[in-house]
Amino acid sequence: MVTVKSALASGRKARLLTVARSESKTLSVCQQSSAGATDWCKDICYALALQKGFPNVKNLVDQNWDAIEPYLNDSDTLTILLHGLVSQVKVQLIKDEVPADDWVFRHFWDGDIPSASFATAIRRVAVSFPDIQFWLYTRTFNVTHRLTGLSNLMVYLSVDKDNITSAIKTELAHGEKVMLAFCADTWDQTEQIAAKFPHRRKGPKCPELTGKIPLVVWDGKQGKGACVECGMCIYGRNNVRFASSR
Ligand code: SF4
Repeated sequence: MVTVKSALASGRKARLLTVARSESKTLSVCQQSSAGATDWCKDICYALALQKGFPNVKNLVDQNWDAIEPYLNDSDTLTILLHGLVSQVKVQLIKDEVPADDWVFRHFWDGDIPSASFATAIRRVAVSFPDIQFWLYTRTFNVTHRLTGLSNLMVYLSVDKDNITSAIKTELAHGEKVMLAFCADTWDQTEQIAAKFPHRRKGPKCPELTGKIPLVVWDGKQGKGACVECGMCIYGRNNVRFASSR
């Protein structure tokens, strides 16, 4: 059985999964599939920049995509693959003596949910690991119903100027079961997008982007990722705003 691997651990406590197809093969998975990539997010894609700058990242992305691509419509196999990955991560968390309260896992630092079956696998794995807090950001709005309603799986809709109509419709259907990430070039523009959801909080600026929290918080030799330090999105405490130019 092939395996998928975690990548770019943002500190010892945050394990991240990517299965995006690298630019060298074709487009990233969120660009080539119906996953909901927008013109805006394609233009500012930080993940592709990382793939270009770091060959090891690109290799890992390629390997993971190769592992899952044959099974995009096979939720049982995808569940096995994801379960294996998260099991490995849990073993490492225990080995590293990470307090159980800090067991967190972010899906997709690169790419997006590539299929409905993948969303089902994400849900099943969250159910299987109630002691791990999962979170994700997605523009694959058409699978939202497969993800919501679990206390240990926080779902953020990534909203930008190119998918507002679809986001409004999805938010209307799910209400506060989904959190909102307002994305734009500038902070002012993030507020304008948030204003399209007047019944929802606009949320703070991401403190990692503003520099209030460093990308990695060091405690001796141990590093903790900014998101673990902050915790806001991990536990869905508020909506959030991301600006690409700070
Ligand atoms: S608001 Fe906090 S948890 Fe959310 S992305 Fe920024 S640092 Fe991470």
